[in-house]
Amino acid sequence: MENVIILGTGCAGLTAAIYAARANLEPLVLEGSQPGGQLTTTSEVENFPGWPEGIDGFTLMDKLRQQATRFGARTDYARISSVHFCEDKKVLTAEDGKTFEAKSVIIATGASPRLLDIPGEKEMFGGKGVTTCATCDGAFYRDMEVIVVGGGDSACEEALFLTHFCSKIHLLHRRDELRASSIMGDRVKAHEKIQIHWDTIPLEVLAGEDGLMRGARIKNVKSGEESELAAKGFFLAIGHIPNTEPFAKELDTDHNGYFIPCAGSQVRTKVPGVFVAGDCADHVFRQAITAAGMGCQAAMEAERWLAEHE
Ligand code: NAP
Repeated sequence: MENVIILGTGCAGLTAAIYAARANLEPLVLEGSQPGGQLTTTSEVENFPGWPEGIDGFTLMDKLRQQATRFGARTDYARISSVHFCEDKKVLTAEDGKTFEAKSVIIATGASPRLLDIPGEKEMFGGKGVTTCATCDGAFYRDMEVIVVGGGDSACEEALFLTHFCSKIHLLHRRDELRASSIMGDRVKAHEKIQIHWDTIPLEVLAGEDGLMRGARIKNVKSGEESELAAKGFFLAIGHIPNTEPFAKELDTDHNGYFIPCAGSQVRTKVPGVFVAGDCADHVFRQAITAAGMGCQAAMEAERWLAEHE
């Protein structure tokens, strides 16, 4: 049986791995479908302390991984689909049927991009126009007009990143005020390639005769007016859904699916020896550095809990 299994290799999971490995717990880190987590789809990280010039997300995660393995963390690939938690043994079952057993578990499974659920979205997903990652797909839309949906920091960051490739970016936001931090919002408003469509929602992603996206049907929610907007790319940046579903029977979650930790702790759950960290348990801050902080807390709590129960 493992001392501690850590689920997830984002900022929270890998920081937990560094701390648990340095405590000689030899953690097993299970990596899911997005190795390195959400930061690997971010271009430039400007607000992680210690990187005054900024650092690209992929490199930052690679450095965290190297740091964790240097101290003895091991990684394996597994998408956990169900769990059974008892105080003295935690059993985790992967989608392929493989099982893992541990004395303690740190869940740092992050969050996945939210979709709109409008006609054409699924049909045009993956290579035909609709995407949730400008860093991954932006270069495919060189010299084309594209749409970005959302008004938060992610939408602004995606729109600004796309200005390196695209001829024009239409930012659709459902309100008349951005949710993004003012520094990001100001950059977007000042950019000549970005046009903000206030109070506007997409109703449908439209396919051309070639099967690729040709545009979107949009609606101004104040005037009720509908129109068609020609664009080849549709970048969704409307927030995330926490990846907590496989654990929801055993642990408390709120109405949006985020883990609810025990009172007085950010990372302890109602099951002794099971801890949570990062975006799966944080709907307020959702920053790389706060996820890393929670990963640290979870590993230290796991270490203390194991010491008390050995
Ligand atoms: P977010 O802050 O939750 O913003 C989501 C945006 O999508 C909001 O503007 C929201 O509109 C809109 N939206 C949500 N559901 C929608 C729907 N069904 N239809 C149309 N629009 C919809 O999410 P985020 O931008 O991904 O940011 C998440 C966290 O990461 C934040 O804390 C953010 O500060 C942080 N972040 C930081 C950076 C950075 O500092 N460089 C970069 C990216 C993200 P409303 O405004 O009307 O709710």
